[in-house]
Amino acid sequence: MKYQNSKHGERYILSIANHEDLTAAITAFCKEKDIKCGAIYGLGAISSLTLRYYSPVTKQYVDKTFNEQMEISNLTGNISSKDGEVYLHLHVTCGRADYTCIGGHMLTATISGACELVVEPFPGQIGRYLDSEDTGLNLYKF
Ligand code: FE
Repeated sequence: MKYQNSKHGERYILSIANHEDLTAAITAFCKEKDIKCGAIYGLGAISSLTLRYYSPVTKQYVDKTFNEQMEISNLTGNISSKDGEVYLHLHVTCGRADYTCIGGHMLTATISGACELVVEPFPGQIGRYLDSEDTGLNLYKF
């Protein structure tokens, strides 16, 4: 997984290489630095985006992929862990060629140009549990 990073205080600036899978690159970086809790924010440009929409009524996920050049006008997310693995929760807003935006819960995206992120690790770790009784979501386990 190709990315470059530099540390500034406790935060990292992360630059993911062109054509890389965004979620896989962030996951690999968190593994490398042993980050189990933290925050992510940033921007970039992509050629493919897969969003996941969750209906709390049906408790079903609907995934949709958009294959087009877009700007990540904002990516924001958090880092936790589930079953010993890095667990990312990422949301994006992306600008299309016609200057409208799409956005939501991001599964993954393919970099097309650049992706510049800030990763802020927090001390300690936070896990997740599946809230099967109510929301059907993987919620924070404090
Ligand atoms: Fe979400």
